[in-house]
Amino acid sequence: MNTTLEDIARRFAEFYLLYRNPSVETDLTSDTALALLLEVVRSAGFDANHIEVGRLYQSNRHEDILINTNCPFRVIDSKRKDSSKTVCTSRGDASIWMTEWLDCVFLLLNRKTDWGRNTVDTEDIARLIETEIKRAQPLPLIRITDTKDCLGEIPPRKDIPIDRSLPGIFNHTKNTDTIQTELGIHTQYGCEGKIFIRYSNDTSRVATCEKCGLQIIFPKEIQTYGELRNHFTALLEQKT
Ligand SMILES: [Zn+2]
Repeated sequence: MNTTLEDIARRFAEFYLLYRNPSVETDLTSDTALALLLEVVRSAGFDANHIEVGRLYQSNRHEDILINTNCPFRVIDSKRKDSSKTVCTSRGDASIWMTEWLDCVFLLLNRKTDWGRNTVDTEDIARLIETEIKRAQPLPLIRITDTKDCLGEIPPRKDIPIDRSLPGIFNHTKNTDTIQTELGIHTQYGCEGKIFIRYSNDTSRVATCEKCGLQIIFPKEIQTYGELRNHFTALLEQKT
């Protein structure tokens, strides 16, 4: 896993340096370039279908806001498998969130290299990319029943990015994070309800889904999402 991620980050770093080098003419639309960027976006946990060269706008009542101000790429989500380049020139067709993230990674790289003017070690850039890919990865689903119900993270709030100048970059829940009363999202059978810790006694905590009523019980001493994952993994292994 880490070897693959390191490899993707290093190849993206090499591509970025070529892309920023004025003496090298980079073919942005080459299959290799677009496939690499797709690999980067997917490894960050996004459900992307493909990547195109083009602008992406978010329309609101008064104006159209350009999303990718720092890179010429827009990311198309997997629900639009039929989207052609022509269709996607219309506004808002592609995923705003995914494009915003990729654009912010380009912004971070631009800042680190002073828009390509500074010589920066490829490995330094690769490390920055790897950090952002890992930051963007959502908490892997925690299986909580033997009928495939899972607990997913509460998605990060879009109005609080890690930095106002980086509107596409958020911190996600990690295995090492302390569990919250608003425990997560019930991700099975299309429920998508929030699971809350309702009460605890001397030994256990009880959490229920606000939408379908699914109830889970786990030991009170569990502190983190990683511990919660280990608990349910062990419990479900016993049952099989
Ligand atoms: Zn539910």
